[in-house]
Amino acid sequence: IATAQHFTYVFYNEIDRQKLLREKDMENRMHLALGDDEFVIYLQPKQRLEDGEIGGAEALVRWIDPVRGLVPPDEFVPFFERNGFIIEVDLYVFDRVCAMLRRWLDEGRPVVPISVNMSWAHLRNNDFLEPYDRIRAQYDVPAELLEIELTETMVFANPELLIGVIDDIHRHGYRCSLDDFGSGYSSLNALKDIDVDVLKLDRAFFSDEDADNEREWNVISSVIDLAKKLELETVAEGIESIKQSAMLKEIACDMLQGYVFSRPIPIEEFEALLSSGKEE
Ligand code: C2E
Ligand code: CA
Ligand code: CA
Ligand code: CA
Repeated sequence: IATAQHFTYVFYNEIDRQKLLREKDMENRMHLALGDDEFVIYLQPKQRLEDGEIGGAEALVRWIDPVRGLVPPDEFVPFFERNGFIIEVDLYVFDRVCAMLRRWLDEGRPVVPISVNMSWAHLRNNDFLEPYDRIRAQYDVPAELLEIELTETMVFANPELLIGVIDDIHRHGYRCSLDDFGSGYSSLNALKDIDVDVLKLDRAFFSDEDADNEREWNVISSVIDLAKKLELETVAEGIESIKQSAMLKEIACDMLQGYVFSRPIPIEEFEALLSSGKEE
């Protein structure tokens, strides 16, 4: 028994130690990495269920590390939220998105609204939208083409603050969505105060087995009906099967974002996809 305990102790410490080392390494290199364009954005299309066309996309950050290769956001976003660097990363993503939209407009390409994730770390600053406006103005992109995704967890951390934040976002002209809705302890009741434009239903709503669970679909379609009554657009996240996609269309969910339609892809690939859809 003593040996087993000892082993567990050493085991966990080794994991902690490696995590600390990795974080130290990220901390040392993050500023240079941002300057060296090691962070890139991928776009995941949102498919309109009514006609199957691309109705928008979400910008998702990736770290292309020369040593470690493509690092997924789950490995650095939580750490950067703790040390504050996420603010710079989010603004970098926003800058790249605005530059891309400017280019699309200049080149007369098809254009769809793009959403970006905004970490709660920004909300500590009263003037958190000022840098966003500065970037947007620099590229002269209409604010209606930009959507800011806030996560459900912020609702519970500080609902009053969030109501003010959404108000600010709207006054500055951006669209606003509530991300990961239903992933935690979302209370439907909160929706009466949370005045967003879009509700993104977390993939927790959709189980792995296809669309056979009647109870599950009753819950989903009720949430979609409620959202409609509140005049919210609905996006179902993490949809992987055609069956789920067909069900969502049937219950009049507005958009789908998931592997069944497309994974997050590099900008050039997204542009090709968008152009091919529009030519038909
Ligand atoms: P999220 O905002 O909920 O983004 C959606 C995540 O779900 C993405 O993971 C996407 O690749 C994944 N996904 C989409 N469709 C499917 C599907 O059908 N099946 C499965 N299994 N997954 C699907 P990703 O890109 O790894 O991002 C993870 C999280 O990292 C994001 O979750 C978001 O919270 C955070 N993140 C990503 N980019 C940024 C950013 O620029 N700023 C901030 N603050 N956070 C970001
Ligand atoms: Ca998101
Ligand atoms: Ca989400
Ligand atoms: Ca998430």
